[in-house]
Amino acid sequence: MVTDEFSDLRIKAVKMFIESGIKITDEEVEKIIVNDFELGDIAKEGAQILEWLNTDRVGVRLIALFPFQTLPEHFHRATVNEQGKEETIRVVSGTLYVYVPGEETITNGFIPEGQDNYYTARHEVMMKPSNQLTLKPGTLHWFQAGKDGAVIYTFTSQARDKNNIFTNPRTTKGCINDLE
Ligand code: ZN
Repeated sequence: MVTDEFSDLRIKAVKMFIESGIKITDEEVEKIIVNDFELGDIAKEGAQILEWLNTDRVGVRLIALFPFQTLPEHFHRATVNEQGKEETIRVVSGTLYVYVPGEETITNGFIPEGQDNYYTARHEVMMKPSNQLTLKPGTLHWFQAGKDGAVIYTFTSQARDKNNIFTNPRTTKGCINDLE
């Protein structure tokens, strides 16, 4: 969802991109999606996303997360024709906590208040600038920024957001656009 009330958040995201050394054009500024994932509390659960590229084969996005902002748990499903999206994350600035299935080690980050049922992957991976992680298709994951926020790249196979399946049923659609 993008509304005017989010335009100041877009500006904040641009500032984070610039401070992390990434140049973007004025046109790209307009394309930044401020997404609350239909959950209604953008500071708690949301993300600022700029899609740089999404061809039939690859997708590249730049994401800013504000301090402690959480991108909700989801996975990228396979379809009859596709394997499901493979996603590589690389941190540009700040600290990012990534949560995946496995031994419960969540310590530095936290589950957004009252949302325990919707954050089931609790194996914590702390990521700093230049750290990179590849998530295989079908892997449940969610992200949370540390106290200084985080700027990250995501490199993926083609992104079809309708194949993003969120644990929280109130989030019915994915990040940016539906390509089909
Ligand atoms: Zn994902």
